[in-house]
Amino acid sequence: MTFPVLLITGGGRGIGAATARLAAARGYAVAINYRRDATAAQAVVERIRADGGQAAAFAADIGEEAEVVRLFAEVDGTLGRLSALVNNAGVLETQMRVEAMDAARVRRILATNVIGPLLCCREAIRRMSVHHGGQGGAIVNVSSVAARTGSPGEYVDYAASKGAVDTLTVGLAQVAAADGIRVNGVRPGFIHTDMHASGGEPDRVDRVKAFVPMKRGGQPGEVAQAILWLLSEQASYCSGTIIDVAGGR
Ligand code: NAP
Repeated sequence: MTFPVLLITGGGRGIGAATARLAAARGYAVAINYRRDATAAQAVVERIRADGGQAAAFAADIGEEAEVVRLFAEVDGTLGRLSALVNNAGVLETQMRVEAMDAARVRRILATNVIGPLLCCREAIRRMSVHHGGQGGAIVNVSSVAARTGSPGEYVDYAASKGAVDTLTVGLAQVAAADGIRVNGVRPGFIHTDMHASGGEPDRVDRVKAFVPMKRGGQPGEVAQAILWLLSEQASYCSGTIIDVAGGR
């Protein structure tokens, strides 16, 4: 039996890990990329295999072009030709106002959140496009509601990077349609993951949930459901679509 091959960047923890587990349950062979936390990524792989699914973990910093090229080559060799990509890996840094930010910080944010997804789209197109001998495919880019709100006073640099992700989704969708590739996005709101600790406030979701119409944060699995729908044939006429998963915010 052949499984469609899906690569999820940042699949070892949080939204990526939930997406990996749901994708495996839906019949994908899942390539789980991570940067540093091999233990977390391997735990996701083991859980998927224990449930009868296929998965493998791949270390690579998606902000580094050579590592992206190596990552995709390793996935080719281990699981086979890619038909789906979720650009999920993303980072933010300590909450601060713009006048306190330096260029090194902004470059780190842009490397993972913008350059990485763009390079991963490039490698995916080279494998999926009907013009490159592929069968077509689907890409989902994980953005953020921050692209709409701007994260004032917290991390405007992160918000701006997610604005770039949305623009990438809209523009690439128009070009890639002729390659047989659908490109869509999801914009999560406040989701319970470890990411908020890197902003210096691990319990941020509990503080800000009062601003959400549903009065709660979201779970990673709720974002994963939207991602898997966009990847699926049920979304066969959707491209350039961005779904908010944000409790009405
Ligand atoms: P998370 O729990 O912090 O997990 C981030 C994942 O990305 C980890 O697996 C991490 O790898 C990986 N990663 C980070 N930088 C990487 C790099 N340069 N190369 C490869 N992998 C890298 O984050 P999350 O909350 O699940 O967020 C996932 C996505 O959702 C991000 O794009 C984020 O911006 C977006 N989002 C999250 C929220 C939220 O409230 N949580 C809201 C809106 C949007 P290691 O495990 O090796 O560190």
